[in-house]
Amino acid sequence: MFFDEEDYTTDDEQRLVQSTKGEYDAEENVLRPKTLDAYVGQSKVKENLTVYMNAAKKRGEVLEHVLLFGAPGLGKTTLAHIIANEMGGQLKMTSAPAIERSGDLAAILTNLNEGDVLFIDEIHRLNHSVEEILYSAMEDYALDIIVGKGPSARNIRFSLKKFTLIGATTRAGMISNPLRDRFGITCRLEMYTPAELREIVTRSAKTLGISIDDEAAIEISKRSRGTPRIANRLLKRVRDFSTVNGSSTVTLKDARFALGRMEIDELGLDEVDRNLLKAMIVKFDGKPVGLETLAATINEDAGTIEDVYEPYLLQLGFIARTPRGRVILKGGYEHLGYTPTATQSAQISLFDKKGE
Ligand code: ADP
Repeated sequence: MFFDEEDYTTDDEQRLVQSTKGEYDAEENVLRPKTLDAYVGQSKVKENLTVYMNAAKKRGEVLEHVLLFGAPGLGKTTLAHIIANEMGGQLKMTSAPAIERSGDLAAILTNLNEGDVLFIDEIHRLNHSVEEILYSAMEDYALDIIVGKGPSARNIRFSLKKFTLIGATTRAGMISNPLRDRFGITCRLEMYTPAELREIVTRSAKTLGISIDDEAAIEISKRSRGTPRIANRLLKRVRDFSTVNGSSTVTLKDARFALGRMEIDELGLDEVDRNLLKAMIVKFDGKPVGLETLAATINEDAGTIEDVYEPYLLQLGFIARTPRGRVILKGGYEHLGYTPTATQSAQISLFDKKGE
């Protein structure tokens, strides 16, 4: 990489490492569990991480690099905080879109101390030249830098302090093989069960000083699309309705009223989900449709559909991803109150794995 030493100041580094989550809801940080024990669900991930962290600590080594896969709001950032906390390192957070030049990443890496944890969100969005810097940084804790240009250019190898990189991504398929291979630990976060979400809602209510009936917590968890961030957000909005109505405790009636006003149905689907399903039935007659076409039809961003809406609809079995595009399945029709026509039923049986 080409790099002028004077180009990067500590200010640059500060801006980059703070740029990720600075604007995030401050309450989100308050609600993050601080230890693995308090981190609800994801038992396989927790068990494995516990072994890897204890082993690294016993050997007096830093933890190997960790790649976290999972839809937005499933707890990747929270897990990074916990890992840093348990390993006794400082957490530095950034995101791939904020790292525009290789020098940006070099500035961050050279400022890391031994045992620090560098969290790079949306790591699948790193540009190629930046990604290449990471290879030697991850493998050899070294930075290969070409200083100057033309005949006077010279190659300098900087050694870095031993650190742990935690990469988070919503798109498992978009990480290049060389990058993926350099992560010693890979964890895939699953959607949470309603029982786990109920535990999260109850715990968050306690932290935020919200008094809530158990039935109301259950109702919120059922409508949270398997995602803690959504559960916490719905809890806060339901509290708002309840406060305005003058109730001191959030009851089931309050929760149902608020969720109804937010147009979130009993499965947690909102207007965008319903528009998407409806377009697949009405506009595309149940035939497979490409993501971009679907996104343009309902006026949504394709990436948002892929990251935010689709995972839950896939999980519910309302849609399927096929080589020919997205296709709506029986449950999707039924949820919207449609009965598939004969042609539509033929499409469903082509793609519905359960019917095979
Ligand atoms: P991601 O980085 O995957 O988008 P976050 O780690 O920011 O998700 O999680 C979003 C919110 O959900 C956090 O504020 C945290 O309070 C909550 N959360 C996530 N995972 C858990 C969990 N396992 N237990 C309790 N709360 C969680």
